[in-house]
Amino acid sequence: MISKHEAATVQGFLEDTSNLKHGWTPGVFFPESEEEVAHLLRSAAAEGRRFTVAGNGTGTTGGRIPFGDHVIAMHRLNRIEEVLPVGDGTAVIRAQAGAELQEVQSRAAAAGWFYPPDPTEKSCFIGSTVANNSSGSRSYRYGATRRHIRSIRVALPQGDIVDFARGGHMADAEGRFSLDLPIAGHLSFQRPDYGMPATSKHNAGYFSAPGMDLVDLFIGSEGTLGVILEAELQLRPAPAKVFACLSWFMDEDELFSFIDRARTGGSGVAPRAIELFDRRSLDFLRQSYPAIPQGTAGAVYIEEESTGEAEDDCLEAWMSLMDACGSPSDLSWAAIDAEGMTRLREFRHQLPVLVNEWLSRQAETKVSTDMAVPDAQARELYELYRDACQSEGFTFIIFGHIGNAHLHLNILPRDREEFDRAKKLYRKLVSRVLAMGGTLSAEHGIGKLKSEYLVQMYGERGIGEMVRVKKAIDPYLVLNIGNLIPASFYESET
Ligand SMILES: Cc1cc2nc3c(=O)[nH]c(=O)nc-3n(C[C@H](O)[C@H](O)[C@H](O)COP(=O)(O)OP(=O)(O)OC[C@H]3O[C@@H](n4cnc5c(N)ncnc54)[C@H](O)[C@@H]3O)c2cc1C
Repeated sequence: MISKHEAATVQGFLEDTSNLKHGWTPGVFFPESEEEVAHLLRSAAAEGRRFTVAGNGTGTTGGRIPFGDHVIAMHRLNRIEEVLPVGDGTAVIRAQAGAELQEVQSRAAAAGWFYPPDPTEKSCFIGSTVANNSSGSRSYRYGATRRHIRSIRVALPQGDIVDFARGGHMADAEGRFSLDLPIAGHLSFQRPDYGMPATSKHNAGYFSAPGMDLVDLFIGSEGTLGVILEAELQLRPAPAKVFACLSWFMDEDELFSFIDRARTGGSGVAPRAIELFDRRSLDFLRQSYPAIPQGTAGAVYIEEESTGEAEDDCLEAWMSLMDACGSPSDLSWAAIDAEGMTRLREFRHQLPVLVNEWLSRQAETKVSTDMAVPDAQARELYELYRDACQSEGFTFIIFGHIGNAHLHLNILPRDREEFDRAKKLYRKLVSRVLAMGGTLSAEHGIGKLKSEYLVQMYGERGIGEMVRVKKAIDPYLVLNIGNLIPASFYESET
């Protein structure tokens, strides 16, 4: 198996988009078969090695950055199989962990099918999207990756390769799973004993629910329970038409009234995405898009699927809603074909790009949130972020998945003093959001950057529940240590 140790090659594996510094590794392995991944894990304990799994490095939480571990890079396990219709109006496609999401989506589209999960950064790997339960704007309608996975193949930390298909391993009435494996032997453990927040998106900590499927424990476990080798993804028929539109609002009340009416129906619209850009986000974007109307309080991006016959009604319903909510429809930026959609999606993607450019000019690191609250409190979350940052005098932007009450706040410090104040504010905001019944992470996960805050969410007892599950599956603690569960908890728990 190819392995690299030279500083120049391993440097790229000490980064993702989090800006987490000081990672280091003795070397990076590039397995070319599933058996090679399993072999590395099988010999880990005896050789005193730990491993961090690397996808394509677009993660935002430092999850793939090793601190002394060897790296397993999934890049060469990138086979994508043919699309297979399964007869119930859906189809499946199998992809190995290192296949890029955009490649899988193009293959599906070429065969007339559609894979809904859409993190804004599409160069991510399929295995990572499963390990992180990634989502994006379309999860407003379609949910996160979890909902689109039929089965997974996993290399477990002791070196077993196991296929888990939905329905194959369910928790019993006491919440217990039992497995008999060639290498690990008999594994028996109970699902984590804690509740999940009442948000429509949640991606912080191991999934747990009565009667749950073991597949769901692995999805979103951020590589701490096994290496995802391959996944079978569920496809839907591609929609005949998609309408997308960016509407501008001069008034925040009108903007939120539009969002409420779009969410609750009754206006004849059925969006698959509802995204917010606050005034400050638009100020950033104006550098690349000078045509953004001046004086805008915010913008809302929506997408809706329709058929050829229903397209006119769909457009009509949206135009009426915009006009009724104070956003003149003739000023909106609309897209009714693939080219227009790409242009609007590029607009969305430009925001993090421009923010990152701004930050590198300041030589500073942003402090960003990925929290969500119960849907009805979306505006409260927006106002909490806005008011807190305004009173601190920060440069900041608020944007993202308002349809799921899931907003990204990016605080952009101009110097170290502001950075330290922003970190303090972040901790306060976490407490406020948790008190509202929210979640620490709705989509990006916890990684290494946010593991200390996970204790705020679950308490020491809840983290202890995760440690118990982790140790049942990874007794020698060889995989992705430091991700999700703060490393100190492995020492305090037995
Ligand atoms: C501009 C931008 C926009 C983004 N938008 C979104 C968004 O809308 N929604 C969203 O959910 N995310 C978003 N992300 C985050 C990111 O794209 C996702 O988390 C993605 O799944 C990471 O994929 P990757 O291949 O780059 O993984 P990496 O960053 O390489 O790794 C991420 C984590 O997954 C683990 N991992 C990787 N492969 C495996 C495997 N095969 N088995 C087990 N563990 C593994 C790693 O150890 C690490 O903990 C965005 C990122 C950027 C930069």
